[in-house]
Amino acid sequence: MAKGSCDCSAVSFEVSGLGAEVTICHCGQCRRTSGHQWASIHASFDKVVFTNEQGLTWYKSSAFAKRGFCKSCGSSLFYRMNDDDSISIAPGCLDQPTGLTIGKHIFVKDKADYYEIIDDAPQIETY
Ligand SMILES: [Zn+2]
Ligand SMILES: [Zn+2]
Repeated sequence: MAKGSCDCSAVSFEVSGLGAEVTICHCGQCRRTSGHQWASIHASFDKVVFTNEQGLTWYKSSAFAKRGFCKSCGSSLFYRMNDDDSISIAPGCLDQPTGLTIGKHIFVKDKADYYEIIDDAPQIETY
């Protein structure tokens, strides 16, 4: 069981059955909504229990997905495909230690020009 929250705690949750590997997405949408590359970890949505969701707001980021953030502090927290029973959770909002490792980089073709990927995880052009 992992616990996570936004910076102001207006969104907090517990989740079980988290994946072990973090995906780093370098796409333009993740760059803009997070301010940099966006990291995520996979879970089943029915394994997430919100202990506070007062700040939770969903932004419809495309025809097929939405992004969850805190409307009070702006923390970028979640990504969900419509009609999918999973959720991607930003591992940066989880309480430490997480025990997670970086599994892969996706949308590397859209990576910003001001940094290099310096770990050994696989780099995928799209996803
Ligand atoms: Zn917040
Ligand atoms: Zn992305």
